[in-house]
Amino acid sequence: MDPETSTHQSELDQPVTELAGVGDAMAAKLARLGLDSIADLLFHLPLRYQDRTRLTPIGQLRAGQEAVVEGEVTACDVIQGRRRSLLVRLKDATGILSLRFYHFAPAQAQQFARGSRVRLFGEARAGSTGLEVYHPEYQLLSATVERSADGEIEESLTPIYPTTEGLTQMRLRGLIAQAFKRYEAHPGSLPELLPEPLRERFSLLALNDAIRYLHHPPPDASLDQLAAGTHPAQRRLAFEELLAHQLSLRQVRSRIQRDTAPLIKGGDGLKARFLAALPFSLTGAQRRVLAEIDRDLEREIPMLRLVQGDVGSGKTVVAAVAALSAAAHGYQAAVMAPTELLAEQHYKSFRAWFEPLGLDVAWLAGRLKGKQRLDAKAAIEDGRAQVVVGTHALFQADVRFHRLGLAIIDEQHRFGVHQRLALREKGEAAGITPHQLVMTATPIPRTLAMSAYADLDLSVIDELPPGRSPVKTVAVADNRRQEVIERIRSACSEGRQAYWVCTLIEESEALESQAAEATLAALEEALPEFAIGLVHGRMKASEKSEVMAAFKAGELDLLVATTVIEVGVDVPNASLMIIENPERLGLAQLHQLRGRVGRGSTESFCVLLYHPPLSDHSRERLAVMRETNDGFKIAEKDLELRGPGEVLGTRQTGLMGMKIADLVRDRPLLEPVHRLAAELVDSHPRSVTPLIRRWLGEEANRYGAV
Ligand code: ADP
Ligand code: MG
Repeated sequence: MDPETSTHQSELDQPVTELAGVGDAMAAKLARLGLDSIADLLFHLPLRYQDRTRLTPIGQLRAGQEAVVEGEVTACDVIQGRRRSLLVRLKDATGILSLRFYHFAPAQAQQFARGSRVRLFGEARAGSTGLEVYHPEYQLLSATVERSADGEIEESLTPIYPTTEGLTQMRLRGLIAQAFKRYEAHPGSLPELLPEPLRERFSLLALNDAIRYLHHPPPDASLDQLAAGTHPAQRRLAFEELLAHQLSLRQVRSRIQRDTAPLIKGGDGLKARFLAALPFSLTGAQRRVLAEIDRDLEREIPMLRLVQGDVGSGKTVVAAVAALSAAAHGYQAAVMAPTELLAEQHYKSFRAWFEPLGLDVAWLAGRLKGKQRLDAKAAIEDGRAQVVVGTHALFQADVRFHRLGLAIIDEQHRFGVHQRLALREKGEAAGITPHQLVMTATPIPRTLAMSAYADLDLSVIDELPPGRSPVKTVAVADNRRQEVIERIRSACSEGRQAYWVCTLIEESEALESQAAEATLAALEEALPEFAIGLVHGRMKASEKSEVMAAFKAGELDLLVATTVIEVGVDVPNASLMIIENPERLGLAQLHQLRGRVGRGSTESFCVLLYHPPLSDHSRERLAVMRETNDGFKIAEKDLELRGPGEVLGTRQTGLMGMKIADLVRDRPLLEPVHRLAAELVDSHPRSVTPLIRRWLGEEANRYGAV
């Protein structure tokens, strides 16, 4: 059946209020769980399952096990311990078990008469009387009920759903059962979107089998597999969800690439002059990536390329060469950075590089006001500005480009996908879709990159400039602060420079800035012979850049800073970094920070000044930092320890918000999903839009995916 023309499609798309007993109040509760339509209920999968399908003999019960048990009461006493409790002793032919109630009514104590039979469900724990079950669900069996007359025993595993306040499992199960009834009456309303030959090839269950199974697994289902999320039924749904995300990004990409981009070919004279003036020659990796970029620019199809390169791998020059290509052809290049500090640094570099070549470089950031802003905007609009460097101020609606041919986005993990797309619109206003070059220092593992950036081609700068020695990293407890200060004294007296980075748990710039000010005062007292500067988020942008300039010029020996210096800041003479409370930061962020040193040829050090005692988790993370300087390894570890949100940057996760799939757990699926996506587009293009709609809904519209 053709999924797009299915007449039943609307049946499950109806709002939950169509179900019996669901009014506005219940609908609001369901909405908190993201459940708006009847179909949403079918995709609301259990967190875990209980096995109430069989009786477990007491003798086979293990601590930690949830089970249905039946036994005869041998004693029932109120115990006056530290907390008063009701203790009921049970036995069956195989062993004894205690039930313990901390909250109980006097009537309850009477129920458990010696010799009466009880059936219960609960988790066995090791207690003071042997195995105990606290507050079980229970039922007294009348003497006439035969043992194991299993009226109450379930036929399938009992699902436990994620729920919300005021919504019981019972109620939720009832609603899901109603949703199932509708589904059964109109099976076409949730069509199978993966054609059978493809399902077979990728060993995927049919959609309806998978959904049915997960809501009602049979008694012999593997609880371990279900708990690990690796059951074929779970795999099928995760697969489909990942596929939908993959398809939506590809769709965005093919929409963009239907437009025409400027043909940029040649301009080699200008590039040669630029390269000749550099104090170094490009690394092999930089040259390879530039060749990949050139090939894209030579086509009239908009480039969509991500350049990945570890901190210090030299992405800025690569951006500069690409910008030169555009400028040589009479197109403008825009370079955007996530912070003013970084944008300004780029502006200075680009001006120093390009003005001798006769190019005009303009600067635009939020802090630029009044006449200066008007002038900058005018130069961008009439084309005098050939290269424009700035912050996201470049995206603002009132900024118009004359002929934007290339948009470069640095440290892209700090931006959202939609911001990237907004820059593209800047070009379209002038009738051209610009090429896009996106740079990131977050070394995303390849399979993850394929998912997160399916809309981008990938280039990797996998080589550092020669002569860099890896940063040596040590972890030191903060009661040895004095030794660390001595270390700064000796580095600075040899003419080297150092950073002292203050971090705070709270996302409060004010508190972080205060901490930095206090640290400055303490260090000024301890190291009176040196010039010490301070940058933090509360300072005016112009103050920050003055301090940075002074540090870069060597007028300051030591810079006390908050994490505002995390990205991009480049002062090669700085060879020592102290990071206070590193246990508060993610590995990726620590790696970024540490990347501020080790940029010159002198041996560099990073001191992780932690506050003891460390949790095992923190200890493990700091050990990773000590052991490796390899951003890819660190990203892998970060992914394992903190999940994809952290690795990709939180602002990316909007697009990555998955219902069922988990990028860490389901990584083995990413590669086959990638292959299947390509096939589906060719062989079953009509499934594409319904798949995207099923999983991304409204979000897909926002990104222009459907
Ligand atoms: P990132 O990739 O972190 O953005 P940058 O572009 O800031 O790195 O480069 C780091 C430093 O390395 C800068 O000082 C830059 O001038 C220098 N650099 C870049 N490429 C080379 C090279 N091929 N040889 C030597 N130094 C280089
Ligand atoms: Mg950079």
